[in-house]
Amino acid sequence: MGLKYREDWRTLLWAAIGPAFVGVQYAYPDMIPYTFWISCYFALSFGIIAHNHNHCPTFRSRRANDLFGSWLSIFYGYPTFAWIPTHNLNHHRYVNTDGDATITWRFTNRHNLWVAATYFFVSAYYQSGPIQAFIRKARETNRPLYHRILRQYAIWIGGNVLLWSAAVALHGLGRGSWVFFATVAFPEFFALWTIMLFNYDQHVHTDPWSQNHSRSFVNPTLNFLLFNNGLHAAHHDKPGEHWSRLPQVHARLAPQLDPSLIQSSLWWYWFRQYVLAAFVPRLGTVQLGPGPMSPPRGRERSGGEADVELGEAGSNAESAVRVPA
Ligand SMILES: [Zn+2]
Repeated sequence: MGLKYREDWRTLLWAAIGPAFVGVQYAYPDMIPYTFWISCYFALSFGIIAHNHNHCPTFRSRRANDLFGSWLSIFYGYPTFAWIPTHNLNHHRYVNTDGDATITWRFTNRHNLWVAATYFFVSAYYQSGPIQAFIRKARETNRPLYHRILRQYAIWIGGNVLLWSAAVALHGLGRGSWVFFATVAFPEFFALWTIMLFNYDQHVHTDPWSQNHSRSFVNPTLNFLLFNNGLHAAHHDKPGEHWSRLPQVHARLAPQLDPSLIQSSLWWYWFRQYVLAAFVPRLGTVQLGPGPMSPPRGRERSGGEADVELGEAGSNAESAVRVPA
């Protein structure tokens, strides 16, 4: 199959089960009110797989990686190349400081349910700039990359139109549209919204000027379901490391981290922060260090340029493009 890491058999299994389960719900729409959340989970896992795939491509072959990125785009809800300008080139460089399109403190550094729930809309708006700049740059300097981006958009939109048409053909316009919405469109939105919420919770009130730049969630079940995405400090420490290796990186880092940034249960963290702390503020997080908006003297993160490549993370110069950060 040409996998770089054998653990990605599970990645491929998930990438097959998610869409297959959409097919099952298309065939038996009466089950949808009870099962649509499973499609939400799979859409979210596609987003996480897309993130992993852009850092550390799944296959040895570039063509297979390109196809896999497009396949993920259909069910994730956005062309997966967009991770590169907004995440690999931007978020990983600025880590929630000025210049990061996805800063958690855009309008306020308060940490409550309202800011967390609306973070998706703010963050998505500010990510559109780097995405457009990346596409423009690809069009001017790297036509093969530009064509791959266009192809991803076409596959994402075409795939969704096809899925909607199939639902309408099976169940008629009204019910078919509802089946498509509940099993494909809503899970796509859920995936995008939730992945940005994760980014918010992984960085809000952390200290980007020290090793305490990320909050990690270490619950084993959560990390099984989300391909170790909870181990965020480890991921920032070694962005190119395969997801299956992150537990070892985390074990090495953990003794140096502020203990408040190592959370076990994500659910308990959410409940404490967004419910209990609304009534008992001292239960909520507090800003560590000087805050992401206040660089210590001489510690500003600098811009510059970076090489990047769609789905190959810099391993092939032929399709690299230079993008101002
Ligand atoms: Zn990342």
